[in-house]
Amino acid sequence: MSEKNQEMENIVSLAKRRGFIYNGSDVYGGLSGTWDYGPLGVALKRNIMDLWWKTFVEDREDMYGVDAAILMNQKVWQASGHVDTFVDPLCEDTVNHRRFRTDHILKDNGVNPDGMSMEQMDVTIAEHGIKSPDGNPLSKSRTFNMMFETLIGPAEEKPTVSFMEHGSIKIEMGANTYIADGTGEIRAGARGINPATSYLRPETAQGIFTNFKNVVDSFYPDLPFGIAQQGKAFRNEISPRDFVFRSREFEQMEIEYFVHPDKWQESFDSLLADIKSFLGSLGLPADKIHELEVPEEDRAHYSKRTIDIEYDFPIGKEELLGLAYRTDFDLMNIQNNSGKSMEYTIKGTNDRFVPHVIEPSFGVERALMAVMSAAYTEDEVNGEKRIVMKFPEHLAPVKYCVSPLLKNKPELVEKAREVYQMLKKKHGNVMWDDNGNIGKRYRRQDEIGTPYCVVIDFDTLEDGTVTIRDRDTTEQKRVNIIDIEK
Ligand code: ATP
Repeated sequence: MSEKNQEMENIVSLAKRRGFIYNGSDVYGGLSGTWDYGPLGVALKRNIMDLWWKTFVEDREDMYGVDAAILMNQKVWQASGHVDTFVDPLCEDTVNHRRFRTDHILKDNGVNPDGMSMEQMDVTIAEHGIKSPDGNPLSKSRTFNMMFETLIGPAEEKPTVSFMEHGSIKIEMGANTYIADGTGEIRAGARGINPATSYLRPETAQGIFTNFKNVVDSFYPDLPFGIAQQGKAFRNEISPRDFVFRSREFEQMEIEYFVHPDKWQESFDSLLADIKSFLGSLGLPADKIHELEVPEEDRAHYSKRTIDIEYDFPIGKEELLGLAYRTDFDLMNIQNNSGKSMEYTIKGTNDRFVPHVIEPSFGVERALMAVMSAAYTEDEVNGEKRIVMKFPEHLAPVKYCVSPLLKNKPELVEKAREVYQMLKKKHGNVMWDDNGNIGKRYRRQDEIGTPYCVVIDFDTLEDGTVTIRDRDTTEQKRVNIIDIEK
C-alpha cells in the first residue's frame, strides 16, 4: 500500500473507531456511497457548517439565507438542464458487467480525461488498450443520468398492458409507452416524464435560484447580494469512492451571488479572497491549496470563468470546491420556462436587467475530509508513538475533557463534576472521562483532537487548582479553576 493510501486508511479507521464516521446501514452490510456520522463526526461537521454560515451569512450585510425543500417541481430540473445533461460517461466490463465511470478509468490509467468528449475517451481507451480493473475489455461508453428519481404522492410506475391489432402488445408505464410487436424487440413509443416524477436534488443551487424573486420581493436588497443555502444533495455516482469524498448523499454549502453584468469581475475576485480566508480558518495549510483556472473547453458552456479550488488530500490533488461565474444562465432559464420575470431594477433608475451570478459551491464532506487530513498527525511523546488530531480549537468536536485523578475517590469525583458542569454550561462540547489511567485518557483525547484535558486531584481540594494539559505540546500547567479558560 502506498504511503498516501496508508494515510487515508489510518484516517478512515480512526473515524470509525472513535465515532466520527461509520458506513451507512452498516449492520445490514452497508449501502455503497452512504455514510453515517457518529457523535464526534456530527459535532465536527456542524462546527464546519456553522463557521461557514457565520462567515458568509451572519457576519455579512449582503447575504440572505434560505432553506429550500429537497423535493422540487420536476420543471426545475428540466429548465436547469439536469434532466438532459446531468450525466457522467459510463462503460461496462464486457465479461462481468461491472460498471465504471469512463473518465475515472482513464485517470486511474494515467491519462488526463479533462476536456475529452465521450467519444474521445472511448478512442483513447481503445488506443491504449485499457482494460477494466478486472482485466477484461470495456464496452463503449454511454451517458448515465446521476439524479435519483422518485414519485410524488400515491403514484405508482405499474405497467398497464393492452393488446393491439396484429398481435402487438402495448405497455404503458407512467408517461412512457413501449410496443412489443412480436419480433422479439421492444420499441419505445411515446416517451415523456410522468407528471408525478421528481428527483432528489443533485445540488442546492436550484433552491436558491427559484427563491431569487421571493427574496427580492421581501427584502429588495441592493446589488450585489447573495443568497446562501446549506443542505443535502444526492447524486447517483457510478462509482462512489475515496471515503466521503465521492458519496451518493452529501451536503453542500452554496451561494448564488447576484451582480450587475458589468461588475462580475470584482465580486468574483472578492469572493475568491473570502473563500481563501475561510479555508485558512478551517486550519488548511496554504501550500496544500491550489487554484485551478478551468480552461474554456472544460467549462460549462454558459460559464465565463471557473476556478476549482483543489486540495492535496491523502488520495491526491482533488477538487474541494468550485467558484463559477454562471452569467444569467440560470435566471434566464427560469424566466423563459416559468414565464415570470427575473428582472431586477436598480432603485431610483430605469436600469432593468436579469442579474448575473457568481457561485461558490462547497461540499461539506470534502471540507471535513480536508480538515481531518490536515489535523491527522503521528508523533512521539516520551518515546511513545501517538496519534493526535490537531483540529483548530474552534472546530474540535470536544473542547475540554474533565476527569477526576481517581474514580473511586468520591470527593475527587464530586469536585470534578462541579468543574465539568461549569465548563459544560458554557461550551456544551465538554466530555467526562474517568476510564483507565490518566495516560490512557490523554491518548484517547488526543485521538479525537480535544485541545485541553483538565484533571482534578487532591491539591484541587486544598487550593482550588487543577492540571490542564495542552493537546499539541502535551505540556501540563497548574491553574486555578477560575483561570481554566485563560
Ligand atoms: P466532481 O468533478 O469531483 O464530480 P463536480 O465538479 O461534479 O465534482 P460540482 O457539481 O461543482 O462538483 O459540485 C460542487 C461541490 O459539491 C464540489 O466541489 C464538491 O465539494 C461537492 N461534491 C460534488 N459531488 C460530490 C460527491 N459525490 N460527494 C461529496 N461531495 C461532492
